[in-house]
Amino acid sequence: MAGSASEDAEPHFEQGPVRILFGQRKGAYPDGNSILVQGENESLLIDPALGLHTRSVGLPAVDRVLLSHCHEDHIAGLALFPETPVHLHALDRPGLDSLDDMLAIYGYGGAIEETFRTVLVDTFHYAPRRDAQTFVDGDVFDAGGVKVRMHHAPGHTRGHTCMMVEWDEGGTPRRLLYLGDIELTGFGPYYGDQWSDLEDFERSLQWVRGVEADWYATFHHIGVLGERARFLERLDLFEGAIARREKALIEFLAEPHTLDEVADHRFVYRPGDDVSFADAVERRSMQQHIDRLAANGRVRSLPEGRYQVA
Ligand SMILES: [Zn+2]
Repeated sequence: MAGSASEDAEPHFEQGPVRILFGQRKGAYPDGNSILVQGENESLLIDPALGLHTRSVGLPAVDRVLLSHCHEDHIAGLALFPETPVHLHALDRPGLDSLDDMLAIYGYGGAIEETFRTVLVDTFHYAPRRDAQTFVDGDVFDAGGVKVRMHHAPGHTRGHTCMMVEWDEGGTPRRLLYLGDIELTGFGPYYGDQWSDLEDFERSLQWVRGVEADWYATFHHIGVLGERARFLERLDLFEGAIARREKALIEFLAEPHTLDEVADHRFVYRPGDDVSFADAVERRSMQQHIDRLAANGRVRSLPEGRYQVA
C-alpha cells in the first residue's frame, strides 16, 4: 500500500496522561491499537489488543481494563490481565460469559462458526470473564486528573461504545475521542454480525460527526488524527461505503436475484478477499439493505426468495 513519509514513520502518540500502544502495522487486524490512560490514582487500559502478548518492552501496570465492545480483536490481550477488573457496556457483557455466548454475538452459524470457534481460542486467546462489570451511556471513570466518559454508539455491536478521555493541561481542557471500531477506513462500517444493526450504526455516525475533540483515535489503521478537517474527511469516506454498497445492490437487483446470489456477488468484501466468514457477513449486511429498500418500496420480493428493484 502506498503511503506518505509520515504515514510510514513509526507511530507514536503521547499527550498528557494518554499513551497509545500501537499494534503491528499500525494496528491492522488481527492486531489493534490499545490506549493507556495513566491517572494520579489509577491506570486504565482501553481495548487490550493481540500485540500485547508479544510486546518487547513489557506490559504496563494496569488497574482497570475498559472495552469499547466485545469482539475478538478488542479482547485478545485480556487474558494477560486475569485479575484486573474489566468493564464493558451492559449490552455486550454476555459475550464474556462463555465461548458460546461470544459466538452468539456474531451468529455466523454452520461451518463458518465452527472454524471461528477455534480461531477465537487459538488466535485471540478467548477466555470467559464472568466477573466482568458493566457500564452504560454517560458513565465516567475518574482515574485522578483524567476522566474517561462513555458514549454508547451501537450498530457495530449492540453495546459498542466510544470513549472521551478528558484532562486539563495548564488550564486548557483536552479531549481525545476514542472511536473503537468506527474505524474511519475506506472499507467502511462493519454491520455483518447478528448483533450488528445498520441503522443504529448510521445514527452513531451522525452523533460522532458532531463531536468536537482535540484528537480522534481508532483501534485499527488510522491510529490518531489531530485535525478536525482530516477526521471529517475520513468520516465521509468511511460512511460513504454504506451508500456505495446500497447503490451497487440496487444496480445488481435490476435483474431478480436471491440472497445467496447477493452474498456470492460480494458488496462488503471484494470478490478475491480471503475472509473465512465473508459469506455470513455479506448475507447479514446486505439483508439489512434489502429489508430497508423493501420497506421503502424500492425493492420487491418475488417467488422463490428472489428480489428485484420495484
Ligand atoms: Zn469490532
